[in-house]
Amino acid sequence: MNATSSARYDAIIVGAGPAGIFSALELADSGLHVLLLEKGRDLEERVCPIIAGRADRCVSCRPCSMVSGFGGAGAYSDGKLTLTSDVGGLLGTVLDVERLHELIAYVDSIYVRFGAPDRLFGEGAAVGSLVNRAMLAGLRLVPVRIRHLGCEYCRCVLESMRTHLSSRVDIRTGTAVTGIEVDGTRVAGVRLASGETLECRFLICAPGREGAEWLTCLARSQGLSVETNPVDVGVRVEVPAPVTDELCRVLYEAKLEYYSSTFDDRVRTFCMCPNGDVVMEATGGDDPVVTVNGVGYANRVTSNTNFAVLVSTSFTEPFHEPIAYGKYLARLANLLSGGVLVQRLGDLMEGRRSTDARLSRSLVRPSLAAATPGDLSFVLPYRYLTDIVEMLKALDRLAPGVASPHTLLYGVEVKFYSGRLDLSSCLETGIENMFAVGDGAGVSRGLVQASVSGIVAAREVLARA
Ligand SMILES: Cc1cc2nc3c(=O)[nH]c(=O)nc-3n(C[C@H](O)[C@H](O)[C@H](O)COP(=O)(O)OP(=O)(O)OC[C@H]3O[C@@H](n4cnc5c(N)ncnc54)[C@H](O)[C@@H]3O)c2cc1C
Repeated sequence: MNATSSARYDAIIVGAGPAGIFSALELADSGLHVLLLEKGRDLEERVCPIIAGRADRCVSCRPCSMVSGFGGAGAYSDGKLTLTSDVGGLLGTVLDVERLHELIAYVDSIYVRFGAPDRLFGEGAAVGSLVNRAMLAGLRLVPVRIRHLGCEYCRCVLESMRTHLSSRVDIRTGTAVTGIEVDGTRVAGVRLASGETLECRFLICAPGREGAEWLTCLARSQGLSVETNPVDVGVRVEVPAPVTDELCRVLYEAKLEYYSSTFDDRVRTFCMCPNGDVVMEATGGDDPVVTVNGVGYANRVTSNTNFAVLVSTSFTEPFHEPIAYGKYLARLANLLSGGVLVQRLGDLMEGRRSTDARLSRSLVRPSLAAATPGDLSFVLPYRYLTDIVEMLKALDRLAPGVASPHTLLYGVEVKFYSGRLDLSSCLETGIENMFAVGDGAGVSRGLVQASVSGIVAAREVLARA
C-alpha cells in the first residue's frame, strides 16, 4: 500500500446516490468503520443555477448538482418509486425473483420510514381497463405500483437519511475517487483525486450514470469483463397536462412499450412527470454533455406533463462504446443550440425548424425556457425520429392530443447505462471484496433497484466482516 495512506476503514462506499446511501444505511449500526465518499456537493449546497434563477441556460457546473452530490441523481428527481421487478433495472437477472420482491418491499418501507408519503398509484380495476385500451392502440402497458415522492419529499427523505447517517458513518463530499488499490486478488483501498490513499477491507462502488464511464474504464484496466449495454436515445415530450390526465390519475406514470413497424425497434415511454417541468443536466463525468430530463412535484402544479420517448439500441461487434455514441448525439444538439433543442412535432413533420415565433403560437408553453428552438432532424438519425413519431401516433390513440402539431419535443435525452460489469449474485466484481452497485454498474435504472442493489452488497459485507 502507498506510503501516503492516511486512514483505514472496514468499508468504503463510492457515491452517495440511492445505491450508496442504502449500503450505508444497512451498514450503519453494524459497528463497522464505514466511509461514504461523494465527489459532488452536500445536500444543502446542491443548487442548479437554472433552477435557482441565476442562469438562463446550462453553464455545465462541474460536478453538475442535478446528478451529483449527496442523494445522487435522485435528489432533484421526481421520486417515483417503481415497486416492481419488471422495470427500473436488471436485478431480476442476478437475484432470485422472490428475494428481489422482498427487497423491493423492504426498500419501500425504508423510504416510508424516512418520510415518503403513503399514497400508491397503479392499483385497482382502472389499471386493467387501461392495459386493454393500450393493447388496442398497439402498445403494451406495463402496470406498475408507484409511490410518488415529488421533488420536495425527495429532499426531505434524503435530509432525514443524511441526519441518520451522520452520527454512524463518516461522510466526505467534494471527494472524487480516481482509482483503486488491489492487493493480489483482493481490494485494498481507493485513491482520491487529492492524491490521498485510503485503505479498506470492502469496497462498494456506486458511482451512478455520472460515474459509469469511470467505472467501466477502471474495470477494463483491472482486466474485468464488461458487457456492452444497449444505449437509450430519444426526446422529452411535453404536452398539456389534460392530455395524459386519465393515465396519470390512475398510474401516475404510464410505462408503455411499442415496437416500431418500420424498424421493429423497441420504443418506450420513460419518467413521466405529470404537471412537472422539463430540466437540463450536464452529465458524463469529466467530459460532460448537456441532456434533457424531467421533474415533478408533490405540491407544485404546472400546466404541462412531460415524459421521455426512448429508443433502445443494442449494437453489434466490434462496437463497445454506447456512452461515446450517446454523447456524440447529445454533443450535436449542444453544438446547434448551446444546450437543449426544442421543436414542435408539427414543425418536425413539415420538415422545418421551430422558431421563437412558431413556439409563441403553440398551445404548449415550453417549461424549459432555456431550450433553443431548432430542428431535431439535424441531430437524431432518421431511424430514431421515425421510431419516435410512430410511437407518438400510437400513443395518440390512447391519449388523444399526444401527436398534436403543438406537442413539444426536446432533445436529446440519452440514458447512459454503460457497460454492465460481470457480477456475482451478491454483486461482487472479479476483484475479491469489491462490489459494484446501482446504475453505474449497469444493474439498475431507477431509485428502487439502485437502493436494492446497495443493500445486497452491504449484506454480503456484513456476512463476511
Ligand atoms: C432529473 C432526474 C429525475 C429522475 N427521476 C426518477 C424517478 O422519478 N424515479 C426513479 O426511479 N428514478 C429516477 N431517476 C433516476 C434515478 O435518480 C437513478 O436511477 C438513481 O439515482 C441511481 O442511483 P445510483 O446510486 O446508482 O446513482 P446516482 O444517484 O447517480 O449516484 C451516484 C453518485 O456517485 C457520485 N460519483 C460518481 N463517480 C464518483 C467518484 N469517482 N467518486 C466519488 N463519487 C462519485 C456521483 O456524483 C453521484 O452523486 C431520475 C434521474 C434524474 C437525473
